[in-house]
Amino acid sequence: MSDNDNKQIVLPFSINVRDLADKLEASPIQVIKVLMANGVMASINQTVDFDTAAVVASELGFEPELEQVAEDAKQEDQGEIPLWRQTIAGEKEKDLKPRPPVISMLGHVDHGKTSLLDAIRQTNVAGGEEGGITQHIGAYQIDHKGRKITFLDTPGHAAFTSMRARGAQGADIVVLVVAADDGVMPQTREAANHAMAAKVPIIVAMNKMDLPAANPELVKRQLSEIGLVPDDWDGDTIVVPVSAKKKEGLDDLLEAILLVADNQKIEANPNGKILGTVVEAELDKTRGVMATLLLQNGTIKVGDTILAGKALGRIKAMFDYRGERITQAGPSTPIVVMGLNDVPAAGDLFRKVASEKDARAIVADLESREQTHSVARKTTLEDLFEQLQAGEEQELRLIVKADVQGSLEPIVNSLNEIGDKEPDVSINILHAETGNITESDVMLAAASDAIVVGFAVDADNAAERLAEKEGVSIRLYTIIYRLTEDIEKAIKGMLEPEMVEKVIGRAKVLAIFKVSKYSTAAGCRVIDGELRRNGKIRVIRNSEVVYEGEIGSLKRGKDDVREVREGFECGVSLKQFHEFEEGDLLECYVIEQQKF
Ligand code: GDP
Repeated sequence: MSDNDNKQIVLPFSINVRDLADKLEASPIQVIKVLMANGVMASINQTVDFDTAAVVASELGFEPELEQVAEDAKQEDQGEIPLWRQTIAGEKEKDLKPRPPVISMLGHVDHGKTSLLDAIRQTNVAGGEEGGITQHIGAYQIDHKGRKITFLDTPGHAAFTSMRARGAQGADIVVLVVAADDGVMPQTREAANHAMAAKVPIIVAMNKMDLPAANPELVKRQLSEIGLVPDDWDGDTIVVPVSAKKKEGLDDLLEAILLVADNQKIEANPNGKILGTVVEAELDKTRGVMATLLLQNGTIKVGDTILAGKALGRIKAMFDYRGERITQAGPSTPIVVMGLNDVPAAGDLFRKVASEKDARAIVADLESREQTHSVARKTTLEDLFEQLQAGEEQELRLIVKADVQGSLEPIVNSLNEIGDKEPDVSINILHAETGNITESDVMLAAASDAIVVGFAVDADNAAERLAEKEGVSIRLYTIIYRLTEDIEKAIKGMLEPEMVEKVIGRAKVLAIFKVSKYSTAAGCRVIDGELRRNGKIRVIRNSEVVYEGEIGSLKRGKDDVREVREGFECGVSLKQFHEFEEGDLLECYVIEQQKF
């Protein structure tokens, strides 16, 4: 393993400009400038060889070293490993072969994602089969000039990001569809941010060019404003004008995809370990579980036993995206398999296992680790400082939602200022937009270990549920400086845990008992939630609080108990209060540290 002190840097045989910039902790622009000064013209997605990268590294104060270490060590050196790399981690460089790129179409609703996916499929399937494909399996593959491209036919960034949130590979390249007559819209921005957070290169398909209202220049300006500067404006983003309706520009788009793919080193080991991602799955009445899988590494065969999420089984039959029976498939191939004992979720990872017995042991292990996993993964402002100190994080990733643009801008500016002031930690705002916190925001946060902060907005129900499930922290504010202050304090480790009161149950007093000369107990029925021995009680009479204090004893019959659930009767005495009256309401509450 190589030394990893600050100045030394290990670089591979070839690296693209974006990754090089990441490694050198510089902006891609800085890197491109140094390259230009040395007579190399390269765009952000272009790959440079070690010698060239080494020159840049030296100029930026590093001591470059050619990567020759074992795969395991390499992973550590690379810091954030691109997702496609994770799936082939452990494979030897010499065994890697190019594989078809996997493309995901993202964009604003109605801008033409579905139409474009359909148009590409129709114009690129082998003759005679056109229109014959009726079954939608969530992915398909085309041939363009003898090279294959795989499309995820599940448009929308929810699918893309949910895969990533589960640690799976969403796609190698994102095609961002923008209608030329409508321009950059909120979901365009959101999708772009999702792709950027995933460090997946973006190609823009400027669709609906057939419409008279198409305004490509305006759209390009809007794209530049969100950091996607078109290549003909000296930027790094390829923008391809297309019309899904007239089937125009499709070849150019495919060409652009292959161009970007060539700079990405999209590879797998066809003879390596067999693993991939579940694209979608359903239970078919006659055929059992039909799961569409995208194989990412290895070659899968009928008869293999696989574990997909927690579903497992021997592959009884396998089909390609056209529904034709196949016996084996290689990397980047979408396949439908029969034989799983359960329906896995989209985005679950799958892999080949030696036997069903092994698989069961793995499932048991997964289940036992699941609880700890969701807790361990959680990023909260409260534990952020510890992570910073432990050197686990140098970056606080945020998703910012605010009610109006007028409040969003100052918040983003102040947050950036806080980040600029801190030497050891940077603030990375993955997405900033007006509107309530949605499921999509939470998904992006889950996929990126980010925190969601909202100003004068709410989180919708679905977002809250997902946040709970994924352990994503949502913090809501109504005063701007409280928001920025919390972030600042969190970075400095000065955030005081916020204690909140949580009502856990209510009971109605049915009868009063004298326990001793001085004390009384109330015979109650719990009408909702529960009463807890270590909770506090508020005595409410005619809607007014007459007492608040600690529980002295909580009994079921003669037994002391720790809690009493809804519907049960119990005896309650309080430490300092004895004047119960029939009909009093006892509200039980606990004070706990605010969990976000
Ligand atoms: P999605 O929501 O992004 O999947 O968008 P759709 O593919 O469903 O398209 C939305 C609408 O735009 C449909 O009515 C399409 O017929 C129309 N549309 C899609 N592509 C084009 C195009 O290139 N030109 C024109 N004129 N209309 C298009």
